[in-house]
Formats: sequence, C-alpha cells, structure tokens
Amino acid sequence: MFPLTEENKHVAQLLLSTGTCPRCIFRFCGVDFHAPYKRPYKELLNELQKFLETEKEELILDVPNPPPKKIRLQELEDGIDGIDNLSQNGEGRVSILEDGSIASKNSNLNVCNVCLGILQEFCEKEFIKKVCQKVEASGFEFTNLVFSVSFPPQLSVREHAAWLLVKQEMGKQNLSLGRNDIVQLKEAYKWITHPLFSEELGVPIDGKSLFEVSVIFAHPETVEDCHFLRAICPDCFKPAKNKQSVFTRMAVVKALNKIKEEDFRKQFPCPPNSPKAVCTVLEIECAHGAVFVAGRYNKYSRNLPQTPWIIDGERKLESSVEELISDHLLAVFKAESFNFSSSGREDVDVRTLGNGRPFAIELVNPHRVHFTSQEIKELQQKINNSSNKIQVRDLQLVTREAIGHMKEGEEEKTKSYSALIWTNKAIQKKDIEFLNDIKDLKIDQKTPLRVLHRRPLAVRTRIIHSMETRYVDEHHFHLYLKTQAGTYIKEFVHGDFGRTKPNIGSLMNMTADILELDVESVDVDWPPALDD
Ligand SMILES: [Zn+2]
Repeated sequence: MFPLTEENKHVAQLLLSTGTCPRCIFRFCGVDFHAPYKRPYKELLNELQKFLETEKEELILDVPNPPPKKIRLQELEDGIDGIDNLSQNGEGRVSILEDGSIASKNSNLNVCNVCLGILQEFCEKEFIKKVCQKVEASGFEFTNLVFSVSFPPQLSVREHAAWLLVKQEMGKQNLSLGRNDIVQLKEAYKWITHPLFSEELGVPIDGKSLFEVSVIFAHPETVEDCHFLRAICPDCFKPAKNKQSVFTRMAVVKALNKIKEEDFRKQFPCPPNSPKAVCTVLEIECAHGAVFVAGRYNKYSRNLPQTPWIIDGERKLESSVEELISDHLLAVFKAESFNFSSSGREDVDVRTLGNGRPFAIELVNPHRVHFTSQEIKELQQKINNSSNKIQVRDLQLVTREAIGHMKEGEEEKTKSYSALIWTNKAIQKKDIEFLNDIKDLKIDQKTPLRVLHRRPLAVRTRIIHSMETRYVDEHHFHLYLKTQAGTYIKEFVHGDFGRTKPNIGSLMNMTADILELDVESVDVDWPPALDD
C-alpha cells in the first residue's frame, strides 16, 4: 500500500519538484514503517508520480530560492530505466546539457538533493552485493555482524535545509514539523539494507556482534556545504588532534542546533541544490573486536625477559615470555597484534616456578575466533613443545571483564620466593636461624635505583610475612620468603644502598647479596585451573 495520504500531498510535491528522492519524501512525511522503503526504487517513483498526477500542473511552486534544475516528472520517468547501469565510479561521466549546466550521465539518475544518493543507489541489491563480496574476501570468521555507516557531514546541512523548507510549507497550512517527526536517514537506510545484508551473508545483524562491517561515504562535490557554519559558530569547529577536518558530523550538528533559522536561510539554499553525482564509497572496512586468552606460565630461564628487552632501539635478548606465547596465538587466531598483561612480572634473571604466573593476552582484530577446548589444548601443547624456556598451563578463552580478576586485589596477595644469598663474612648455621623467627616484618622501600627511570620516587611499606633459611656453606644460604605482593625482593636482600630498611644485610650486620631468585607461587586464583 502506498504510504502517503492526501495531507502529505503538498509536501511530497514540493520535495519531488525540488529534486528529492521518494524515500527521503517518505522520511519527511514521517512514514515510520519499514515496508514502503524496501520496495524497488522504480516502483516507488512510479507510484509517487501516479499519486501526485492529479495535481501535476501545480508542480512549479513558489519556493524562495528556485533550484537550478527543475526536475520534471517525465525526466524522472525516463531516467529510472538506466538504474541497472549504476556504478559508484560513474561520476566521472559528465556532459554539458542544453542550458549549459553540467549534469551526471551517471545512470541518468537524478541524484537526490538531500541524501545525495544514499537512499537511491546505495540501497540497491547491487551495492549490498559488492559490500558482501568484500566482507567474504576479508577472511573473517563471523556468525553475526554489526553494520555501521558513516555519511558525509554535509548531509546534516542538507537535511536541515530541507526541514526548514518543509516546515515553512506546512506552516502555511497551520501544521508544524519538529525535527523528530522526520525519520532519520540512518534509520531508513538500516531498514532497507539490514535485511539485504542478512540475506546475502546468511547471518543476522546483531548490535552486540563483535564483527563490524563499516562503510564510509564521501561526497567531494559538496564538501563546502558545511563551511559557512564555521563563520557563524567558530566555537563548534575547533581543530582537534587525530581529526583530519574540523567539519565532523558532531560539530556540524552542534552548529546546526545553534544557528538561527534566518541566518541559515541567508547562507544556504532551501531547498538545497541538486548535485551532479552520488556519494562515493571511501572505504569498506571489516574488523573483529578483540578476543582474550588467559593462562599461567612458568619461566625456567635466567636469561629471558618477560617482554622484549630493547634499549635505545637495540634488542638485548632475542626472545621474551610474551613473544614465546603470543607468536603462536597470533598465527592461530590470525590476529593483527596483541597486548600482553600479567599478574606482576619477574626480572630477566628470575625464574617463575610452582603453579606459574597468571597472564592474559588480548588478540586485536582476530580473523579466527571459534575454537573447541580440544583445539585450545592443542595450541597449548604447541607452545610448550616449541620452547624449553617456558611452559603454559590452563590456557583458555576468557572475557574482557574476567581479566579484571587478575589485577583485583593484587596488592593484598601473597607471593612466595626462594633466593640464594651470599654473605661477605663467613657464617655458621646458627647465624641465620634467627631469620626463621621473624614474622610480619614491616619494611620501607624507596623506589629501587634500577627502576627509578620508569617509576616515580616513593617510599612504600611492605610486609615480609615469614622467612625460612637453609644453610649451604660459609658464604651461602637459601632463603624462602612469603611476602606481600609488590615487594622488591632483591632490594630487601642487599638493601639498595640503604634505600630498603631493614634488609637482610642490616639484620645480619654484614653485606648480603642475592645470587639467584625464583618465584615459587603467585597466589591469584585466576584463571581457573583446567583438567589436563
Ligand atoms: Zn534522498
């Protein structure tokens, strides 16, 4: 059923005569059910003409700024047969018309002066198919998708102009038209294209999907449409970093909300003039939201940093824990990049034993995202088989939110270490036994010299919960410690030139140094342990 009624007739006539497409006419007439928009363009145009036929003679209206090209119904009728030849690159084909103006020979379509072709050519199956081919060629694995479009900002200016025009016309009939009475271009575009996408790709459109297909439109011919707004509302157009132009859609909309009606009309034609060409597609982009993998790692090497060790652009050691794990994940998930995080970190020369240290890896823009637990198990095996420096356990897919558990209450957690200590003076077994009796020793640690270049200077109090010693020889003993997380163990042993007080050296009244350190356990019960 044709959605317009007698009372829309006047507005429909006005818009059609000034170069507006049938779907935009529906929008301005407040047609808010989907079906009419989805019908073929040619049919819509024919029916609109029939609907208006009775008053054809009155089509030349008294608009304040007559548009440069009046569109006669006959022209529209002729033009629409060429719709099959539509091509988004067709804008180059122009010819001089009798009256000297340049018009697009592109498909003979009269480009809508409001949507610039968005609700014409870019709603057609042909175009959707093109986008879908790109999506399929991108190689992403997906079971649903979000479709987002970005329209050129000048569309808002043109929409505003058309609104003022229609509002004025309706005012003559004592009717009003609020901005919210108009169906948004984006809405109408969604109604038409979403079903086409779903059908073509065989998956539902889902606003929560992590897979996003975005199309960016531009319309070079009319970029200057927005420029007059800057003179009127300079505050809205402040240059910002990472923005190519000050004329963002947000800024334009903000300015349009501020500008007085009469000022707008002085600067911009209402109705907007007819463009020669439809929009161009600047970009069709596919992207998948990040997925997260967590697990625990052991590090068995005293010559392996946790993250790549690079000083002044020069690599100091060839590998790192994060690379040994992530390289495999990147390949299998076909991701673009990764971000590694962990519950604390160990120095290059410190091993991490016991149950291992929890870690999580964010895989950015992954092309593959669906894995069975068996496949993840195999992936873990692959990581473990490829290096004897690290081992991974409990590897699993997790949510972004779950990663918070790893960092939660980190400061309150307990960590266990074992250290090999050297003393400058000869020691007997009895000289170290007193350490076993010290419980919950409070120490003050000034930020260690070795990390001062990346951490602010501060004094932090930490607690050594308990210690246990094992005598080795006159200059060596093993020290097992349970400490509050975040304690600098090396500094607690040698004192860091008095910056950590008390320390093992000061407690024993001699010089002590640490030769080896192992992390025995990191008491974070995340991620959950898995059965082997
Ligand atoms: Zn339109």
